[in-house]
Amino acid sequence: MAEVAVFETVRDMRAAVAGWHAAGEKVALVPTMGALHEGHIALVSEAQKHARRVIVSIFVNPTQFAPHEDFKKYPRTFDSDRAKLAQVGADAIFFPPVEEMYPPGFASRILLLGPAAVGLDDRFRPTHFEGVATVCCKLFTQSRADLAVFGEKDYQQLKVVARMAADLDLGIEIVPLATVREADGLALSSRNRYLSAEERALAPLLHRVMQALAARLRNRDDLFRAVGEAQSEIITAGFELDYLEARHAQTLAPVTSLADGPIRILVAARLGGTRLIDNIAV
Ligand code: AMP
Repeated sequence: MAEVAVFETVRDMRAAVAGWHAAGEKVALVPTMGALHEGHIALVSEAQKHARRVIVSIFVNPTQFAPHEDFKKYPRTFDSDRAKLAQVGADAIFFPPVEEMYPPGFASRILLLGPAAVGLDDRFRPTHFEGVATVCCKLFTQSRADLAVFGEKDYQQLKVVARMAADLDLGIEIVPLATVREADGLALSSRNRYLSAEERALAPLLHRVMQALAARLRNRDDLFRAVGEAQSEIITAGFELDYLEARHAQTLAPVTSLADGPIRILVAARLGGTRLIDNIAV
């Protein structure tokens, strides 16, 4: 199994990328916060289909966490992450310390409109996407990668990042990948490890309810009634529901009927202290 190079500085990463580009090799970036699972590994495999070289960044980005969120306790598992990336044949890990990304005096953020301001996760995490966009913009320009792969699991994030990359002419292609799930339908997430056994048993209900809702909408059931009943089912099961909504799959604007489609259903709900998000195409 080949060793994976680990770069802690932008300078080292750029030197490697410059060498690959000089050899005519395409470079893909897979941004992550570590605690890697099969969903992340699927992103790496997808990246390898598009590019000869794949860099995985592992950075728990403080600017996308609100003060009350789980930045401090977010799982950090670098050694096992590195072993998994060696196994899948990733070329390099970008693993910068916080000061490399945010040196003293750092004072910039990206202001987002469009899909970042549609009243979904942005309503519950008001500073989250500007943190995500800022760090992704930095990672894209730091790496000079040709493309970056993002999971549909974080669907609003995918739309926000794709919009930003296009709007700011960052010269990077954003490649989406379908959500990887457990056998019972629960979307893989680094945060699933926070769930108690009881919560874990309940968690797949979210996906089941969304599948049933998507089927109802495809059968032209009344959108407001079907969405309302799905919301009630989730709340009755014991989740605290932040939102469950049918939105336009591209713009994330509200929709009132199937004719406004293509439609994506998006959900965020909490079980105990753990916030789960998921989405599904109609
Ligand atoms: P994270 O480490 O949670 O910030 O996620 C890093 C990347 O992995 C993002 O592009 C996520 O959308 C993606 N991702 C996370 N979970 C999954 C999953 N279950 N299936 C596919 N991609 C995922």
